[in-house]
This record gives sequence, structure tokens and C-alpha cells, in this order.
Amino acid sequence: MGPVVHSATVVLTMDGPPIPGGNVTVEDGRVVAIGAGRGEVHWDGVLVAGLVNAHTHLQYTCMAEVGQRVYDSFEHWSEVFNRAYFKGGEGTWDPAERAGAWDWRAGALDGAWQCLRSGTTSAADIVTDPEAFVDTPLGGLPYLEIIGDTDASWIADGRERFLATLGGRNAGISPHSPYTLDTGVLADSAVLARERGTRLHIHLAESAHEREYTISGTGPLAELVSAWCAPFALLRDGGSGLAPAAYLDSLGLLGPDCHLAHGIYLGADDRALLRERGTTIALCPRSNRVLGLDGPDVAALLAEGNPIAVGTDSLSSSPSLDLLADVAALKELAVRQGHRDPDLDRVLIEAATLGGARALGMEGEIGVLRPGARADFALFDVDPREPYRSLAENGAGRCVATVVGGKIIWAL
Ligand SMILES: [Zn+2]
Repeated sequence: MGPVVHSATVVLTMDGPPIPGGNVTVEDGRVVAIGAGRGEVHWDGVLVAGLVNAHTHLQYTCMAEVGQRVYDSFEHWSEVFNRAYFKGGEGTWDPAERAGAWDWRAGALDGAWQCLRSGTTSAADIVTDPEAFVDTPLGGLPYLEIIGDTDASWIADGRERFLATLGGRNAGISPHSPYTLDTGVLADSAVLARERGTRLHIHLAESAHEREYTISGTGPLAELVSAWCAPFALLRDGGSGLAPAAYLDSLGLLGPDCHLAHGIYLGADDRALLRERGTTIALCPRSNRVLGLDGPDVAALLAEGNPIAVGTDSLSSSPSLDLLADVAALKELAVRQGHRDPDLDRVLIEAATLGGARALGMEGEIGVLRPGARADFALFDVDPREPYRSLAENGAGRCVATVVGGKIIWAL
């Protein structure tokens, strides 16, 4: 097939200023040129590089009921989530024992298409149950999760089982969090990812009590972990003496090839260390709100220059997979926190595109329109006069078409 030119009222390549009446030429799934003038496919509205959802769990799309409730804390949500996940049964993270409780494959497919229909063309999708590895037009990278292992269970058979599930898949590795895995397992997950040349991802500072847990092995998270009967080193040793980011760093996890989800309760010390390591934080403000948590300190992260991206998290903790709704929430938070940069809208749309690409190690490939990049973009029926602002404030629910690898995969 020869080249096809898509034009729009305004084009946001995320590689330069907005182009009024701009166009994108695509061939063999790639962008071959950016220019101006009407093409054979013309769209009224704003054409923007495909959005990148930097943190979600698409399999939990089938657990949306859990995300529609109201919670007092992360620990409260965790309890309800686990009950639902195990369908009231005794909690076990052994995949063989929980198989069949939910249709993870259906959840993952539904979730991928909800992303695509709202302009997201790539995602960091955390897969807990292997049925949730699905093939859809959604790009990005799936990450296989490690959760619940002690150092002993990991050595006994956890590691071997994990590697068998991972097989030859092109997938990243996602140790769940500092409080759901033992110290040696966290360290080994970093070793495994680097051996395989793949990406790392972990939840960090989602609970207000994580700092107490990593420093002294006490507090509400320690109680939660004790209730799971997980004899982790941090509980035995009275903590690591280190704040959450420093704890992960001491285990070799942080680096530009690792990104974090949430980062709500980070101290200035954590933020400085993450900047130094080039570790991106995927902010998921609507999920934080559902769990009754504070929002992340966007103003501080922006002022200090931490690399950020945007995620929706899953429908088990968020009202939708529409990434621009999280961008709008971040804008509100930043303004409320006193952020006064007139370029805030552009900066947040960059976080939802370029920032996500960086988080996944796919810079220049996704989240940008320039020759050589994947021809992934979306059209939004919003006011084209201030395109960044229109998308940031009103883009949610306004996607009218999505193009992946140069193909129109969905259009209203
Ligand atoms: Zn998550």
C-alpha cells in the first residue's frame, strides 16, 4: 500500500509546536513525513500523537464494581480488593489455586479496547494472571507481576514458575511493591530484568504508611503483611532504616529502565533520588482519589524536574481508562498546589505522550509523530484554538477516532 496523508484542523506531533492545518503521511505502519495541507483523509479537530497509559492492569476491567465504591485508605481498599479477587475464598497468590475465578482474558480485551477508544494507543499493562496476555492493537509493553513471594518461596519454586510463565514473551518485570515481596525477591527481580534486557516497574508510595514500613517494619502495612502470614525480612529485622525510594535503590531497582506507579507519599529525599536515577513516576490521581488518598505532589515534581508520566491504574480503583481524565485531575491538583507555569497544559500532554514513552523505554517510537515513529495517533473533537488546553481540560470523552500503525482501528 502506498503512503496515506491524514490531515486535521491542528496537529500536535509532540515534536515541535502545534501545526494548524497540519498533516501526517503514513506508510507501512510508520510516519514518513509531517507537513501542512489537506490530505486524502481529513479530520476536523485535534490530531495528537497516541497517548501512553503508563500504569494500568487491564485484566481488572472485569472488577469495575470494586472501583465504584468509596474507601478510607489504601489498606481499606486492599482488603476489599483481595476479597473480591479471591471471591471470598481464602487468599492465596498461587495461580493454580485461583484460576477460573474471573475471566481475566475478557477483562484484558475489554480494557484494551476502552483504552483505544479514548485515544490511548500504548500502555504499561501489569499482568498478574497469564490469561491476561492478549493480542490487541494496543501497543506498549505488558509486565508480568511478582507478588507475595518470600525469599524462601522464591528460591523453592517461585522463581522457576515465574520464568516459565514469562517464557520468551516480550514483557517487562513488575515486582508488585516493597510490602508484598521479600527483600531478596525485589533484588532478584532487578537482576532478572537486566539479564533479559527488559523493563522494570513497581508500585511505590501509594500508601501513607509505606515510609514507616520500609524504615522500621511497623505500622498498618506491617499489620497487613503479618495478616498474610508473610514472614518478610523487613518485619523480622525491624525495617531497613531507609525511606521507600532509598530502600528500592539499595536493592538495585532504580534506574532509567525502571518506572514507578503513584509516588504519592514521596519525601523530598525520595524525589531527589528518583531524579538522580532517571526513574519516571506514573501519576494516577483519580485512582488515588477513589482510595481516599491525597493526590501526588505534582507541583513539587514539576518544579524539581522529576520525569513524570500519567496512568489510569485499573477499573478496580478508577472510574474509567480515559487517560485525559487523569490529565485533567493532575491539572486541577497542580493549580491547587500553587503551580503557575503558563505551559502547564503542554507539559501535562507531554507527560501523557512523551513521558509514557520514556517510562516504557520507547522514546522516538511511540508518543510522538516524526519520521520513523509508529503511525499511532488519535483525533479529538475539542476546540482547536488552544489545543493543549482543550485536551488537558476537556479531552476526556472526546476521542472520535484512533489510528494504530497507520490503520483506522476505531472511528465514530
Ligand atoms: Zn496499580
